[in-house]
Amino acid sequence: MKMLINGEWIDKNEKIEVIDPYNGEVIDTVPRGTVEDVNRAISAAVEGFEISKKLPVHKRVAILRKTAQIVEEKMEEFAQIIAREGSKTIREARKEAYRCTVTLNVAADEASRILGETIAFDQAVGSENRRGYYYRMPIGVIAAITPFNDPLNLVAHKLGPAIAGGNSVVLKPATVTPLSALKLGEAFLEAGLPPKILNIVTGYGSEIGDALVSDPRIRMVSFTGGVEAGKHITKLAGLKKIGMELGSNSPVIVLADADLDKAVESSVSGAFWAAGQNCLGVQRIYVEKPIYEDFVKKFVERTKQYKVGPKLDEDCDMGPMITEKEAIRIEQWVEEAIKAGAKVECGHKREGAIYWPTVLTNVPEGVKVDCQEVFAPVVSIYPIEDLDEGIRKSNAVDYGLHAAIFTNDINKAFKAIEELEVGGVMVNDSTDYRVDAMPFGGVKNSGLGREGIKFALLEMTEPKVVMFNLDI
Ligand code: NAD
Repeated sequence: MKMLINGEWIDKNEKIEVIDPYNGEVIDTVPRGTVEDVNRAISAAVEGFEISKKLPVHKRVAILRKTAQIVEEKMEEFAQIIAREGSKTIREARKEAYRCTVTLNVAADEASRILGETIAFDQAVGSENRRGYYYRMPIGVIAAITPFNDPLNLVAHKLGPAIAGGNSVVLKPATVTPLSALKLGEAFLEAGLPPKILNIVTGYGSEIGDALVSDPRIRMVSFTGGVEAGKHITKLAGLKKIGMELGSNSPVIVLADADLDKAVESSVSGAFWAAGQNCLGVQRIYVEKPIYEDFVKKFVERTKQYKVGPKLDEDCDMGPMITEKEAIRIEQWVEEAIKAGAKVECGHKREGAIYWPTVLTNVPEGVKVDCQEVFAPVVSIYPIEDLDEGIRKSNAVDYGLHAAIFTNDINKAFKAIEELEVGGVMVNDSTDYRVDAMPFGGVKNSGLGREGIKFALLEMTEPKVVMFNLDI
């Protein structure tokens, strides 16, 4: 496919191959964008902003709805692209394509609800005759940078609110999974989006990222990805708004009174969704001692039922990791844990990019799988004395996106809600729950700001105050 700059689909001699990680097949190529391409895209987006900021809300709504409709009509095509270029199975990919239509429709809804307020200027002596209000205006050109693991819906989470808010965009999709984003770009143009409003530059983050995020014409960098790139971008961005949706190593606490089967089923899915490459993925499970043995037994039984294999097979439960390099990385992390005393309950087998769903127990504190983000199908289960220990261990990391608790005791649930240091607490569900309209984001190294359309719109617009000095 080609990249989109200044309303034209641009090709280049230098290409990047898009590879299906399951079989190594080259499924397409995209241009290897350069710093010059980034500069041209930003210039086009600056012109695009002159158009987008004047686009009436009813037109923004119509474009977003139409784009959602196109994705819906081509749902299977989108799902096939997601499944082929990334790690997801076809069933997981269909869910993502559906969620993209929800995200775009919510963006259309929220575009009509960008509200302001009147201001009581007469609260200050001398301001009795002043009247006024504030409204929200778009901020300008937004640089949107997205990761590989949800190559369509996470792009929609940036383009939806950016366009709803009247901004223009330069999008840099993940280097390894650019096709879903380009396809969504086509849908936006087909839906009538004035072309300069959306520019998509494909390429390596390490080659074109700095030029994009440091350019003063960019008014906001909206980034979703790993903490390392996030920190680098934050240092470089300078005086502009920053939205950071980063990683985590999410904890689940299972108390002795919980519905064991529900906790197992939900946590297995949360651990291995998208081959564990999921910012909300279940990584650490803290189980109260009376049910620990039972929980581990059931969890391992369920995990062993997972069908690992060709992503496009209808009955496949889990596909490969995004690259063989990533699979080798996690294999080494697990080796480190084993050397330090961890026990492999199942999995820890690799073939190319495929790494079998792996359950560990006895994991000592401080090894990588315990305290860093695994971003792989590896989960560790730990026994705990009580809720206090579960909360303490859950919080003893540098991340804080989602946490979960399984219990039927409302008081314990509320204690966990109030004491867990995270952006979201799921009660009687795993950490891997998100509906696209809810505020979404983390604390600590998990990020800055919130997405979820209404909340992203607040980040992507800013208030302008209007005051009338009247003679009345
Ligand atoms: P990554 O950080 O390697 O890459 C993300 C994007 O940043 C890609 O488009 C990449 O090309 C680009 N990039 C890399 N270096 C850059 C630089 N110096 N300047 C500008 N752009 C640069 O992440 P990934 O491997 O694609 O995704 C996995 C990570 O994303 C995990 O840590 C995961 O938890 C996180 N993630 C977070 C959320 C969330 O909403 N919180 C959602 C999905 C994924």
